[in-house]
Amino acid sequence: MAKIQMTTPLVEMDGDEMTRILWKWIKDILILPYVDLKTEYYDLGLEYRNETNDQVTIDSAEAALKYGVAVKCATITPNAARMTEYDLKEMWKSPNGTIRAIMDGTVFRTPIIVDGIVPYIPTWTKPITIARHAYGDVYKNVEMQVPAGSKAELVMTDKDGNVTKETIHEFANGGVIQGLHNRDESIESFARACFNYALDLNQDIWFATKDTISKKYDHRFKDIFAEIYENEYKAKFEEKGIEYFYTLIDDAVARVIRSEGGYIWACKNYDGDVMSDMVATAYGSLAMMTSVLVSPDGKYEYEAAHGTVQRHYYKHLKGEETSTNSVATIFAWSGALRKRGELDNLPELVRYADCLEKATIKTIEDGVMTGDLYLMSKLENKTKVDSEGFLRAIDERLRVML
Ligand code: NAP
Ligand code: MG
Repeated sequence: MAKIQMTTPLVEMDGDEMTRILWKWIKDILILPYVDLKTEYYDLGLEYRNETNDQVTIDSAEAALKYGVAVKCATITPNAARMTEYDLKEMWKSPNGTIRAIMDGTVFRTPIIVDGIVPYIPTWTKPITIARHAYGDVYKNVEMQVPAGSKAELVMTDKDGNVTKETIHEFANGGVIQGLHNRDESIESFARACFNYALDLNQDIWFATKDTISKKYDHRFKDIFAEIYENEYKAKFEEKGIEYFYTLIDDAVARVIRSEGGYIWACKNYDGDVMSDMVATAYGSLAMMTSVLVSPDGKYEYEAAHGTVQRHYYKHLKGEETSTNSVATIFAWSGALRKRGELDNLPELVRYADCLEKATIKTIEDGVMTGDLYLMSKLENKTKVDSEGFLRAIDERLRVML
């Protein structure tokens, strides 16, 4: 079989530990035999980040903006223990944070659903994608503890020096206060990223805030979404037969639980943090969650939602067998290759990406799976395989499909 050709390189961001091992195996076993893979390679492994003073992370994000599609392996975010372990010059920032800031992106997380793994909420038969606003609110707050007898005020000085002041509270006894902010531009980018992604997936999008209580702050989010939808997206949504639905956050939570899934749920920063963990857990496993960072002008970075699976890596280094789930990392590759295929008009590449995903799901539904899924699967005939064995089992099925 002739290898499938590519025209534009994918931006490849390599990573750390067990996921770095899986990364190479996925390429060797599932991609390189079938695709004449073109990538622009960036090594975001911690050693090379340290060597380049983290410049490689910045370069990779800029390449993602240039070429439009990137695929990223999980990476270590250094803490004190990693400083010693890797003898680091500095406690480098989270690569995901750096890339997100440069791409000004919104993160969309979607579970991969397979037969045999029943979500804790069994009516969720289709995936729920969470879109989390990644700027501001409580994550960029200013807060103080207030001693008894204090008066707390909210003060704003405009560019001409005019002052607006409001009393927050007069404290007879001690207490706490906090100042939050968000920027119109950031909310607008978030709204556009959400509407574009809904068009991309051909799914409804829900958005919810607490605008009945927060009549200026949360209401601003509601208004910006409504305005952008009316002016820029309504016609496109109607053409595709999909819907933009706004409701109160409490109502949204109730409806999500009763729903069957199959839509995107756009969340403010805090709601997205909390709800994405709830949704991921309810669907079964972090190793089955994909994650896509989308910039407002439609540049994509695909990755798995989980980390570098450190514990498995140390077993691997000791020569022990591991059974690490590579599904989300495989779907990061298939997502990126499919997007490249769509942008470059390469139907063969799109078909390959579809087959790779189908073969992966079929493997698990045939009862061949890694240890994490083996514990959860309700299938009667199931076999636990090691990390590499799982990839080989996918390849047997992929070969037939292609
Ligand atoms: P983790 O790598 O996601 O792993 C946490 C635990 O979840 C694992 O120990 C494992 O449980 C299970 N798990 C996660 N992914 C799995 C998979 N693919 N297959 C099987 N089991 C899986 O999170 P962590 O241990 O908190 O973090 C490790 C490193 O990853 C840290 O240095 C952190 O900075 C980094 N991290 C990176 C990203 C990213 O790049 N996007 C995200 C999160 C964390 P058992 O050990 O019980 O089998
Ligand atoms: Mg969280």
